[in-house]
Amino acid sequence: MKKINVAIDGPAGAGKSSIAKLTASELGYIYVDTGALYRTIALYMLENHIENENDIVAALGQCKVSLRYADGQQRVFLADRDVSEDIRKPEVSMAASKVSAIPQVRSHLLSLQKEMAEENNVIMDGRDIGTVVLPNADVKIFLTASPQERANRRYKELSLKENCPTYEQILNDIIERDKNDMNRSVAPLKQADDAVLVDTTSLDLQQSAAKIREIIASKIGGTR
Ligand code: C5P
Repeated sequence: MKKINVAIDGPAGAGKSSIAKLTASELGYIYVDTGALYRTIALYMLENHIENENDIVAALGQCKVSLRYADGQQRVFLADRDVSEDIRKPEVSMAASKVSAIPQVRSHLLSLQKEMAEENNVIMDGRDIGTVVLPNADVKIFLTASPQERANRRYKELSLKENCPTYEQILNDIIERDKNDMNRSVAPLKQADDAVLVDTTSLDLQQSAAKIREIIASKIGGTR
């Protein structure tokens, strides 16, 4: 049977991953966080001090990225190493934004994303899911919120950890990543023509998830 594919795109910190995770577990779908794939490539390049574009492209063949699922949770692997925590460091966020502008990096990750969606009912989040990865997705959502609110949420999340950056650093980082993601020439961050826009600036997680559930139900007729 054809699998159900839900694409959620939007800028950093709009709440995509929390909302997608919650909704996927309610629907029994697999949640695919595609940002984790770009982050893994960035981590590999950072750890191996590979900086220039030609060297990054040449090293892609050694960069074996895969996704595994344990208790419904996505874990991302670099060869046999689980890097799910290491890829969350702030320096990896900015490096991911940079490597993701390289066309060969994007094509290196494309088939993995497409296969996940062919084989499973998925909620996949990223920047180009509705536009490039799954142009025929059953449901497309573009999730956004003001940069200040997005920085606020990220700050709350990171303030529980050590070495938390300041609110201003986080806001600047978000603004810079949005700019990189929207202005790159391959697969830039943009709303697909047939995506539904959801602004979560004044919504909490539960309200945002309810809205997403409503949209999914209206497109595919409830939880199949
Ligand atoms: O979603 P997350 O913030 O973890 O993604 C990290 C970076 O990976 C983004 O800033 C973006 O540059 C890149 N990315 C992308 N395409 C995707 C998902 C993420 O270019 N589908």
